[in-house]
Amino acid sequence: MSEAAPAHWPNDQFSRRNGELIIGGCPLSRLAARVGSTPFYAYDRQLITDRVAALRAAFPPEIALHYAIKANPMPAVVQHLSALVDGIDVASHKEMAVALDTGIAPHKISFAGPGKTTAEIHSAVAAGIVLNLESERELAEVIAAGKALNVTPRVAVRVNPDFEFKGSGMRMSGGPKPFGIDAERVPALLKQIEAEKLDFEGFHIFTGSQNLKAEAVIEAQNNVLQLAYQLAAQTTMPIKMLNLGGGFGIPYFPGDKPLDLAAIGTHLKHCLPEVKQKLPQATLVIELGRYFVGEAGIYVSRITDRKESRGHTFLVVDGGMHHHLAASGNFGQVIRKNYPIALGKITDETMETVSVVGPLCTPLDVLADKVHLPKAQIGDLIVLFQSGAYGLTASPQDFLGHAHALEVLV
Ligand code: PLP
Repeated sequence: MSEAAPAHWPNDQFSRRNGELIIGGCPLSRLAARVGSTPFYAYDRQLITDRVAALRAAFPPEIALHYAIKANPMPAVVQHLSALVDGIDVASHKEMAVALDTGIAPHKISFAGPGKTTAEIHSAVAAGIVLNLESERELAEVIAAGKALNVTPRVAVRVNPDFEFKGSGMRMSGGPKPFGIDAERVPALLKQIEAEKLDFEGFHIFTGSQNLKAEAVIEAQNNVLQLAYQLAAQTTMPIKMLNLGGGFGIPYFPGDKPLDLAAIGTHLKHCLPEVKQKLPQATLVIELGRYFVGEAGIYVSRITDRKESRGHTFLVVDGGMHHHLAASGNFGQVIRKNYPIALGKITDETMETVSVVGPLCTPLDVLADKVHLPKAQIGDLIVLFQSGAYGLTASPQDFLGHAHALEVLV
């Protein structure tokens, strides 16, 4: 990488030719011309493919991989991943439609998320996908939809365990949570599922996200397995699927180290004999979003102004927090940190300290604060890395009414 690469940059996934960044084999300026306007997100399909291959190589073949498309629901990305993974997790009716459009078998799609509406439940039951039940009310509505449609609904129970996933960017289990059904209430639900003769798949136990510590992931997986064994012992229905969650993080900031996949793979291999004994029919699922796509994506904007203010240089770009809320530090960060950033093409090796800001009239619209970059001019392209997940669809695009960003898979 060039001198613009941050110290923590995990690998050289985007190379440079003649000082210019290459994505999907294409020089960035040419890609920008092809896209037609800035700002845009670009995702590299080969990097996504490589990421799936790395997981397959590290894990035993018995482990199924599911893509949670909330991380990046661009239809072309979902289509690409649908041919590489074993299942897709959706969180809304719209995401369900994107997943079904790929042609993946409906029983490989699962729908998780609290507060599924009556209409969503009806549609999901009609589609034949797996509903991860998040409340007793959802179960009642699933039963009603099955009767109305004369189909047997496919269900799994999303469990809220009583343990936490330590060190996660987002903790989604332990204590009172809106996600899943408290573990102690699950046995009663299982009785009802059995009495209603629903197609019972198993358990979904998703404990958190953005974790870079293999030992924390391993501990959470062990806890999930113990809980699943206990719950399975309370029903005569076979457990066909156990979703262990995921939470695999990617490095965003200086000091972040890539997750040790090999350690997790070794642990999973070690667990399999007991799983085969205690849950003989179960497929183990790991459900990931950002780990598949986050590092394969960049956000590209163009410098529209260079401003000096009391000794500080601002590069104003045509993109900003309205397309990339996470990079602005307003998507769950407690202390704002800069995403890795670079110039699309380096023409002048002189380094300068600048802040990169968007066009929104708010001090929140900062894409990079006091970063060290080669000297840039109006018209140059600025690239934010680690932008393939929770970018466009996690941002308030209409705030202040600027043009929407485009997306391209190359
Ligand atoms: N699955 C569920 C149920 C989630 O709630 C989330 C994130 O909130 C994910 C998957 C994806 O998490 P990540 O993109 O960090 O892998």
